[in-house]
Amino acid sequence: MIQRVDLHTHSNASDGTDTPAELVTRAHEAGLKAVALTDHDTLCGLAEGKATADRLGDIEFVRGVEVSTGTEQGEMHILGLWVPEDAGPLEEALAEMRARRGERNQRILDKLDTLGVHITMDEVLAQAGGESVGRPHIAMALQARGYVKSITQAFDLYLGSTGKAYIPKDVMEPERAVSLMSGIGCSVIIAHPMLKPYPPGWIDEFVKRLLPFGLCGIEAWHSEHTDADARSCIGIARRYHLCVSGGSDYHGLNKPRIHLGIGYGSLMVTTDAFALLKHWREEQGLPC
Ligand code: AMP
Ligand code: ZN
Ligand code: FE
Ligand code: FE
Repeated sequence: MIQRVDLHTHSNASDGTDTPAELVTRAHEAGLKAVALTDHDTLCGLAEGKATADRLGDIEFVRGVEVSTGTEQGEMHILGLWVPEDAGPLEEALAEMRARRGERNQRILDKLDTLGVHITMDEVLAQAGGESVGRPHIAMALQARGYVKSITQAFDLYLGSTGKAYIPKDVMEPERAVSLMSGIGCSVIIAHPMLKPYPPGWIDEFVKRLLPFGLCGIEAWHSEHTDADARSCIGIARRYHLCVSGGSDYHGLNKPRIHLGIGYGSLMVTTDAFALLKHWREEQGLPC
């Protein structure tokens, strides 16, 4: 029997809606053999996720994180898997990113204010379950106050890149993200590299640029990837001797059509793929 894992998920520690305990419980109910919690810019949900998996048994928990980096082609996201408990320099860098998020959130609220839309930072923070706060929480606060009918409308009118209160996010240099994470023993994976159409060969160049900093792999299987996208990623992995990872990018009710383990229904990340990721770590002398 083919068994599944999910190595890319978000809880309410960032912009998902499940608590880490709920998320791991659902993953267990779905029969997944492993789940990685990869919240944006925070590690604050990981202890609860791990404790839940230990209590339930029969599901492996992988401590993860997702970091947004900036490139000439826009944002590229990078996942760190098997984040150690003592994440020293990574935790410091994430704290810095969260502080910049806080400043950006305030600038968005200020801009909304000038548009006659008045919500407070307390209302935004009330929507967040953890320490990584961003536009989805502002969208929820706007909806709670009746300024918009839906989260989608909040992004269309105000928060999206063509919205009236858009402020771009501060992002990390990709080299810095990769070296910070590989330096503490994470498996560093380029997330969903096929979300946008990049110029031919650009992803190859991006991979080559990051290899010297300790890049481990590339996310081939993702809810928003087609089968052809996944095959392209596997081709890239072969060319540069990278590992292949995958996950749903589950966000709970914030992306209600994406389910743990199966994405929109056809996602499949097998325990065999997971075993290869662990094998790479064993070869490097890294703990799993
Ligand atoms: P931030 O990190 O604060 O820039 O917020 C980015 C998050 O906003 C993404 O991870 C998505 O979950 C969410 N998001 C972006 N665009 C939209 C949209 N048009 N509708 C709903 N959610 C969105
Ligand atoms: Zn997200
Ligand atoms: Fe992402
Ligand atoms: Fe994600």
